Amino acid sequence: MSSQSSIPWYDDFVGVAYRYYDLRMNVVPLFTDRKEASSLWHDTIHPWVDPSIKIRFLEMDDKYWFIMGADSQKPDTNLSFFKELSKSENYERFKKGHDGEAYLRLGVYAKKSLDDVKKDAVCDCSHEAQDHDEGDNDVCLFNTCSCKKFSSFQVNLLKKKKIITDIKFLDEKDVKSDPLVWNCINVNKFSKSE
Ligand SMILES: [Zn+2]
Ligand SMILES: [Zn+2]
Repeated sequence: MSSQSSIPWYDDFVGVAYRYYDLRMNVVPLFTDRKEASSLWHDTIHPWVDPSIKIRFLEMDDKYWFIMGADSQKPDTNLSFFKELSKSENYERFKKGHDGEAYLRLGVYAKKSLDDVKKDAVCDCSHEAQDHDEGDNDVCLFNTCSCKKFSSFQVNLLKKKKIITDIKFLDEKDVKSDPLVWNCINVNKFSKSE
């Protein structure tokens, strides 16, 4: 069990993206501030010992907990990460396609409005920017579409990466058998739900 229980938990990030990049699946915790992401990488993730990095996906119905931790060469600034998220298509694709290995990178997430994007940028409604009416509150022009405002996001990946080779998908019944997950759930779930 080592010193796992003394490492603080960190959940101040906006989500996780799953992308193919450099021929491998990438797991990309997302931040809104590039400086914050860079300093977190420098202080916490860079000192991680690669083979010790663990990523756990604890599945509960249509949600999952993203849980990540590692042994560090700088234990004083080490953190473990967690976030409760909704399952998505990209998540399912990652689950099927990761093949036991992934790159870990951090990403910077930027919300884009109609003014910020090119004509062929795709809206969350799946239609392009040029199909949204700039004169009418950005409403989507497709009759069958209920989109009232163009919205899209862009993820910029930071270059630095780590290789993860310890990836597991778990159910609630497996919680106790995995020390990292057990610690996460105890500290962040049971203790908060009074
Ligand atoms: Zn739209
Ligand atoms: Zn639309």
